[in-house]
Amino acid sequence: MSVSGDETGAGNRGAVQFRVWGCRGSLPVPDPAMRRYGGDTSCYQITGPGEAGLVIDCGSGLRGLGEAMLCKPRARTDILLSHSHFDHLIGLGFFMPLITGQSEVTLWCGQEPDLVREALGRLYGPPLWPIRIPDKYRLPLRHLEPASEIGGACVRTFPLNHPGGCTGFRIEMAGRVICSVTDHEHGVPEIDAQVIAMARDADLMIYDAAYSNAEYPFRKGWGHSTWEVALKVAEAAAVKQTLLVHHSPHSTDELLDAAATALADAPVRWQFARDGMELEL
Ligand SMILES: [Zn+2]
Ligand SMILES: [Zn+2]
Repeated sequence: MSVSGDETGAGNRGAVQFRVWGCRGSLPVPDPAMRRYGGDTSCYQITGPGEAGLVIDCGSGLRGLGEAMLCKPRARTDILLSHSHFDHLIGLGFFMPLITGQSEVTLWCGQEPDLVREALGRLYGPPLWPIRIPDKYRLPLRHLEPASEIGGACVRTFPLNHPGGCTGFRIEMAGRVICSVTDHEHGVPEIDAQVIAMARDADLMIYDAAYSNAEYPFRKGWGHSTWEVALKVAEAAAVKQTLLVHHSPHSTDELLDAAATALADAPVRWQFARDGMELEL
């Protein structure tokens, strides 16, 4: 069953808050036809009791998070980076807490930090960008071990099927479990089995569902999964609530609304993520 924002528990303060700052995939889209689901790329914020908090990815949604943090500063910001594709990095140069030094920012990389540093230096460095990040802001890049204590959470990592590699996260904070499965293409049995194992009984899973099953044959090998497969994974893993993320830059609000209606009978609690959405867990 698909659920509306009101049914997600908003208003009842949970132990953990999950906020979507960017759920578009591949390219930011400032398109009026996509305004409701939003056009910013991958960025999610998890906030727990006290100082507990994590950010997933540095897509263009990170800019908005940075603006919000100017009003509500945090002494430190731990960002888990799933991989180095530019839609997951392009917000970093606009993240005001990093630029102003207001927050002590650490980038935790599932991939080798040196590879991420090289990718960042190419994206944010001459001739594509006037200053070189991470050197300019002395941004520490640290390798994410398979299990680590970061930001008041236990973070476990697992590999996803994506060109160049990508890292999934199982995050346990204040008794809640959030599983991040983006970016990922289904179809490699051992990886798919591990995704289900790591998502098992999660309070929330976000899953890369860029396409429909009908569209998928034309996108096979591009590194993304489908709405229908996402719901099957959620069912198999007994996930309590699922957000479908990484919307294709061609998916309009109208198209996603129609898909939500068509898939409303799925036997799991799910919805398409929207920029600005907040869930209480
Ligand atoms: Zn992506
Ligand atoms: Zn990617």
